Amino acid sequence: MTWETVIGIETHVELTTASKMFCGCPVDFGAPPNTNVCPVCLGLPGALPVVNGRAVEYAMTIGLALNCSIAPHSVFARKNYFYPDMPKNYQISQYDEPLCVAGHLDVDTDGEVARIGITRVHMEEDTGKSTHVGDGGRIQAASHSLLDFNRAGVPLMEIVSEPDLRSPEQARAFVAELRGVILRLGVSDAKLEEGSMRFDANVSLRPSGSTEFGTKVEVKNMNSLRSLQRALEHEVERQQALLDAGEPVVQETRHWNEDAGTTSGMRSKEEAFDYRYFPEPDLVPVEVDDAWRERVAGALPELPAQARARYASAGLDPVAADLVSRDPAAGTIFEEATAAGADAQTVANWLTGEVTALLRRQDLSLEQSGVTGAGLAELAEMVDDGRLSASAAKEVLAGVVAGEGNPESIAAERDLIQVSDVSALEPVVEEVLAANPDAVAKLHEGDGKVIGFLIGQVMRATGGKADPAAVTAILRGKSA
Ligand code: ADP
Ligand code: ZN
Ligand code: MG
Repeated sequence: MTWETVIGIETHVELTTASKMFCGCPVDFGAPPNTNVCPVCLGLPGALPVVNGRAVEYAMTIGLALNCSIAPHSVFARKNYFYPDMPKNYQISQYDEPLCVAGHLDVDTDGEVARIGITRVHMEEDTGKSTHVGDGGRIQAASHSLLDFNRAGVPLMEIVSEPDLRSPEQARAFVAELRGVILRLGVSDAKLEEGSMRFDANVSLRPSGSTEFGTKVEVKNMNSLRSLQRALEHEVERQQALLDAGEPVVQETRHWNEDAGTTSGMRSKEEAFDYRYFPEPDLVPVEVDDAWRERVAGALPELPAQARARYASAGLDPVAADLVSRDPAAGTIFEEATAAGADAQTVANWLTGEVTALLRRQDLSLEQSGVTGAGLAELAEMVDDGRLSASAAKEVLAGVVAGEGNPESIAAERDLIQVSDVSALEPVVEEVLAANPDAVAKLHEGDGKVIGFLIGQVMRATGGKADPAAVTAILRGKSA
């Protein structure tokens, strides 16, 4: 029996609005605990929520970018459950009448494009944060827990996909593309490690060719694209082993354990919560008229797919096109550098190669680094002019990333400027020729191989700073 993998993904994205979803408290993640709170987001009796219009607009932006229909009338609901970091004991969310429905996102996996359905995009609010004190931060062994409600009430969007994904790799590509869309829209910083974008993956297997779905398992706690793919690969293997042995898959939520590389059961459907959803009595429905929807649709920026097509038709390779189309910081730097005359593929190669590696090593984001479009253009020009060798350019780039200044000053400071000026190189070449009469004789006999030796001597005499191309040209002139 062969099995087909079926995956659907639920993604949560925290919006970067100035204030929270239902109160005026600032959205600011660096603030000291419990300083951005008020009676509304603390759930004090009698406090009344008011919808943040900008958050609704951001939600519409996401829905429209994902080709959803925007409901002219949508409703908030109370989702009731108890958790210490949720002060009201219910979360305001949307239930049976969400803002955005029935969209899609095209996902390219190694050149194969699949259209993944988007079931819905709805608005809700985030919870607070608990910190468990003692024994490695685990709740089981904690002496006590601390609560920070700064995050309680931050606008949170839930994006639900249809079960249209067919492999862990495709699921990863879907989340990467979705993150690119969110970043391009500028509605969230969508940081996976820090949790401003989080996702749960639902996965099941079914006999190949079957149209019915198998029993699904929900996997939680992946905080990178890599762990999403690993968790799904592990879960597919686990389910396949069960099914091959004739055992049923139990519908449950499983926890991904990054270090062990395995999933373990959390709770099964039988003990699942009954959320007792009902319409939020303190909020009016959200009414979106045509004019509002059209205005938001008209202001959508270029999305990754469009940018990627534009870059691809300009001849950029797919890896580079992916990076600069999905990451707006990289995209802006790329556009600025090429507008200033730098070669597109050269800049893209630096961004996807050297710069990405350096940032990872130093745990920096592109925005935190010293990399700018103007800086990369200057660097490219120095290489073109023969003033920097390819390897020296990489050294200068490291300085640029570390924020040491512009390429000119870094190259000068590190003494990396290459000499390609003929009048400066001539005397050195003459000296080398005078010291090597045998080689000169061979040169005149037309022995081409001796040029390499002479170039080496000139490089040595200049401490490696001569431009080999310029030296070669001078030597060829002398052999003629
Ligand atoms: P639940 O009621 O458990 O929340 P939903 O039907 O709302 O389930 O779906 C939640 C997510 O699970 C969606 O992303 C959906 O695409 C996905 N999903 C639903 N059924 C399956 C299945 N059989 N296999 C894999 N994913 C599924
Ligand atoms: Zn508040
Ligand atoms: Mg559901």
